[in-house]
Amino acid sequence: MISRQDLERLIQRQDGGKPVLSLFLDMSVDANNKRNHHVFLGQKRAQFEELEGNRPISTGNGSESGMGTLLERVVEWIDNNFDESNRGLVIYSEVGGDWWEALQFPVPVQNRLVVADRPVIGPLAQVLNAYEHYGVILMDREHVRILSVYLGTLLDELEFRGDPIAPTSNHHVQAGGYSHKRFQRHKLEEMRHFFKDFAEEVERFVARYQPQHLVLMGTDQNVAKFKEFLPQPVADLIIHTGPAPVDGPAREILARLEPHLAGELERESQALLEQVRDRAAHDYLATAGLQGTLTALQEGKVDTLVLARDREQQGARCTQCGFVFVRDVTRCPYDGSEQLEGVDVMEEMVRLAQQQGADIQFADANAIADLRGAAALLRF
Ligand SMILES: [Zn+2]
Repeated sequence: MISRQDLERLIQRQDGGKPVLSLFLDMSVDANNKRNHHVFLGQKRAQFEELEGNRPISTGNGSESGMGTLLERVVEWIDNNFDESNRGLVIYSEVGGDWWEALQFPVPVQNRLVVADRPVIGPLAQVLNAYEHYGVILMDREHVRILSVYLGTLLDELEFRGDPIAPTSNHHVQAGGYSHKRFQRHKLEEMRHFFKDFAEEVERFVARYQPQHLVLMGTDQNVAKFKEFLPQPVADLIIHTGPAPVDGPAREILARLEPHLAGELERESQALLEQVRDRAAHDYLATAGLQGTLTALQEGKVDTLVLARDREQQGARCTQCGFVFVRDVTRCPYDGSEQLEGVDVMEEMVRLAQQQGADIQFADANAIADLRGAAALLRF
């Protein structure tokens, strides 16, 4: 599993002075239930062999890059450590060095291999952006079940049963007449008592797991009643309610919720893009386009960054002042330095946004073609 902390750690990694391999593998299975990552790995291996003049590259002579050995280690790692339930994998490793880190998760990523001076983190940011952390609350009048769901996968499950309160007399078990009324009153009192306890459990769950959203499942009547017991900040997290059996298998419940949650994420994304477009049209606290957005980021102004998914963009960084330029510059306009190095601008933007605590949203490249690949809501 991966989290924002992984991004943070990778950004802050000390440069080990060796080139870094970033390998993203789509580990989803095809119609025949087979994985095809070895095709991509084979192609890359062949490319490196060709680059190195058709010498076998895993023989260990001094002039080879060490890529052959590294790709062998990748295959071996997958054979021994890959969890078959996962669909995405990223491996970071120093070429000819010690650093090795593998992250696997239940959602696919696009195949990609990059060797650069730093780990590539953009695709990880995309995965994190495409899924949010949800709490799914399943409840009836006797118990509540809380599922912690991240990247579409069940991470944790909690269950609480109400502690029955002692009836005021034994007559309540008899049906009809006075006792029946009394029984109903007792049941109502018990429900309030349970719902109050359940609401506290939900509050505790929110405080501990910090889900971005909640889903509340139960009969309409129970859901409406239960909401009254939730503190407003917790109730505000609810983005979807609907009926579901409290004891249903988690996998089925999550599968049924999936389209609702995907729809909600899509609505949020559309609302953001509308806001960006509206502000950009009025030239009010927004940028559109790679250079304008990059400049705003470097000035620390960005509140929310919007980037085209799976895009790469060559640019340059001045090694003297650190500024990044989208255009091919031969000389830094700020300090005149000619010491420029090539960088992927999209990657630089993800790093800057993450370091500044700005939100990052990815959108389909075609859907934001009018924003020219990047845009942002600004803080000032
Ligand atoms: Zn400079």
